[in-house]
Amino acid sequence: MLKFDSFYFQCPHCEAWLEGRNLKAEMVNQAILYSDGKVLNDNYITTPQKMILCPSCGHVFWIEHPVEPLITYEKPDAEVYSWNTWRFFGISFSDNKGKLALINHYKTFLKKSHYEPRNEIYLRRFLWWAYNDLHRNHQHVRLKYLLNGFMSFGVWHCNRKMILEGEKLFIKNYKGFTDNLKRLLALLEKHPEEQIDLELPEIYRELRQFDKVKELLEQTGSRTYFTNEMLRHAKWKDARVFMVSG
Ligand SMILES: [Zn+2]
Repeated sequence: MLKFDSFYFQCPHCEAWLEGRNLKAEMVNQAILYSDGKVLNDNYITTPQKMILCPSCGHVFWIEHPVEPLITYEKPDAEVYSWNTWRFFGISFSDNKGKLALINHYKTFLKKSHYEPRNEIYLRRFLWWAYNDLHRNHQHVRLKYLLNGFMSFGVWHCNRKMILEGEKLFIKNYKGFTDNLKRLLALLEKHPEEQIDLELPEIYRELRQFDKVKELLEQTGSRTYFTNEMLRHAKWKDARVFMVSG
């Protein structure tokens, strides 16, 4: 059974038709939440892609709210670019090259133009997640994950190699990562209405300002599993993105 509802929209420049997808909530088996706010449902990111690079003409445009009349649920009687051809700019994430390509796409978009604060926040948040994708799931390199029987030796070994290589690339690109995060932090502090829950303490943690994490979490009052985990990682002086639940 299909996990998605398809919808269709047109590039405002060349009028090519593109297929969009909404995940059907009732079909989701497993949701994973990471400390940086990225959520995966059955391995698909749930945050909609608002910025689109037309696969036909290269025009960049935004779809802020994918609702009618901008979109239609009826398949048009024309050639349609499938979701995979434009989603994340057509990049494949099966290796670190694809992950680096995504980082470069966002960096280019940010350099090319001036954006409204909420759009710049959106792009910088996705750039942050793209940097973190280089070493997301770092816990999978541990032997425990092989011994738990979650994956075969072949898959574990291959995955481990990719994450360790990704960690090296993350360190190599660390300045770009912190520059983006500092700018995102400044924007979010100026526009609190755009903040996602616990985003600020997490940014401070990833910027290695661990005392600030404690200070902010003490202000929020109520303790949850997520806030306890964040405090624990801050205490260890661990700045890496981690899985909160999944
Ligand atoms: Zn186009």
